[in-house]
Amino acid sequence: MNYKTSLDFRKDTLIKLLNTVALLEDEIVEALYKDFKKPAFEAVLTETNYVITELKDTIKNLNKWAKPERVWPSILNFPSTDYILREPYGKVLIIAPWNYPFQLALCPLVSAVAAGNQVVLKPSELTPNTAAIIKKIIEKVFHVSHVKIENGGVEVAQKLLSQRWDYIFFTGSVPVGKVVAKAAAEHLTPVTLELGGKNPCIIDETANLKLAARRIVWGKFINAGQTCIAPDYILIQKDMKSHFVDYLKNEIQKAYGDDPQKSPDLARIVNEKNWLRLINMIDPQKVLIGGESNIEDCYIAPTLIEETVLDSLVMQDEIFGPLLPLLTYDDPKEIETIITRYEKPLALYVFTEDKVFGKEIMKKYSFGGGCINDTVVHFSNQRLPFGGVGHSGIGAYHGRLSFDVFSHKKGIVKKANWLDLPMRYAPYKNKLQSI
Ligand code: NAD
Repeated sequence: MNYKTSLDFRKDTLIKLLNTVALLEDEIVEALYKDFKKPAFEAVLTETNYVITELKDTIKNLNKWAKPERVWPSILNFPSTDYILREPYGKVLIIAPWNYPFQLALCPLVSAVAAGNQVVLKPSELTPNTAAIIKKIIEKVFHVSHVKIENGGVEVAQKLLSQRWDYIFFTGSVPVGKVVAKAAAEHLTPVTLELGGKNPCIIDETANLKLAARRIVWGKFINAGQTCIAPDYILIQKDMKSHFVDYLKNEIQKAYGDDPQKSPDLARIVNEKNWLRLINMIDPQKVLIGGESNIEDCYIAPTLIEETVLDSLVMQDEIFGPLLPLLTYDDPKEIETIITRYEKPLALYVFTEDKVFGKEIMKKYSFGGGCINDTVVHFSNQRLPFGGVGHSGIGAYHGRLSFDVFSHKKGIVKKANWLDLPMRYAPYKNKLQSI
């Protein structure tokens, strides 16, 4: 089957996918709950509804995005008509992580199909219930020669990576991103790598602390902190610290109650291995709020950690869990020392009422994307590119950009024959002066 040819075919399959996701929405939400108690509200907001919106947007805009795009011709080629022609890469491999296991598998798939590619999708093995429902959906909607699902773990991923692909789209950790990049280099396959990092969250002395606490608590503890763009650590002006801790305490209590383990709104850590990794990072002497845990339930309470050193375990790598270290600065120069100690992060946040300071921070540091006076929400605007820089990733997607990610763009000059200016042709004698 040649999926390159028909836009109607792509659109029909995407409509079928949309209807199937809508029909099975409850089952998807249930699978996400079984995998790590993802709250239904979060499952709908960040997974099913997100995918449905992406599908609707793609179906609506497909003709427009796929149309040859006219560009201004160069005077040197006069007379010509110049345009960009988008063609599918061909065979695409998508490897997805477990933290938003539905959305991060389905969104790239939607765009890869929209752009006309054949796809093999490998969801994460750590969320088996979601992987099973994805398989059910894919097999219902697509012919196996168009989109194929390969469920399994590292071995399956490595087997897939040993094959030749026309494009690889990977979302996951930095170390595995390097494995993918090496495998892709073997065949000079282009890649998008959506990775992670240690995302700073700066709070200066002008910030609205109450609102900052509310927005940080939501952005940090949604999905129990297992979000690639969650604030990783707080950098707060030292005089603001004690007030801010009070506000955080209040917001955590308001969101999750006196005993967050009983809250229906807090997801669990995905497995024991990750639970242990996180527990090892908690130094009980430094806990300001939370710290409670339960291995049988893979539970860790929203935990605030007072941190003064950068060589502690919690300040080594991306945390990816409900632990929030709080560091203070006296002089703004200290912010730079801390941030530049780490690789370029996927996200950066600043809370300030000082417009100049906010803008300066956004300009000064290199990071994937971020917010002034909020956390995480830049992800939700389809008109903003989403991706990392340096170790936090290669490439960006979302909205129209996702369609472009999975399309090779051919630059075409259609030359007219009614005029043929002699300027470029040899002999060049005396022509140099006229350039
Ligand atoms: P991971 O890298 O362990 O796994 C991701 C995928 O790679 C899975 O499908 C897994 O089976 C496969 N895989 C694991 N080891 C492999 C190997 N050695 N060779 C080949 N494939 C392998 O990541 P994860 O634990 O699923 O997800 C967490 C990480 O993903 C975090 O670092 C987070 O920041 C990042 N992440 C990034 C984004 C983003 O959009 N930038 C989104 C979500 C998660």
